[in-house]
Amino acid sequence: MNTTTKRDQQLEAIAKTILDIPTLEARSSDRLDFHEVAVWQVKKALRKAYMAGYEAAISDVDPERVEPEDGCPRCGETNTDHLVWETDTTVHCTNCGTRYQPSERW
Ligand SMILES: [Zn+2]
Repeated sequence: MNTTTKRDQQLEAIAKTILDIPTLEARSSDRLDFHEVAVWQVKKALRKAYMAGYEAAISDVDPERVEPEDGCPRCGETNTDHLVWETDTTVHCTNCGTRYQPSERW
């Protein structure tokens, strides 16, 4: 799914669930295209859209990774958020629970 499609689907979902607007497509009818919404609904919808954008932005950032040969020998994890140094020589993979000794300290 491309970014625009995903974004538009998220906006449609927010409109539907928070603003009670069934679609963001113009339907050429004042009755269908104009809606009365409370300011707190608008605030909630904008906050949700803001957070969706924020989460999309941070998920685009590549996590810091170690070389594959220093990753977890059991599950192959290389994301340093999941590989924790326990001692000077032992790493704990929080993904699968394996403890191992990588070839060198990173
Ligand atoms: Zn692992």
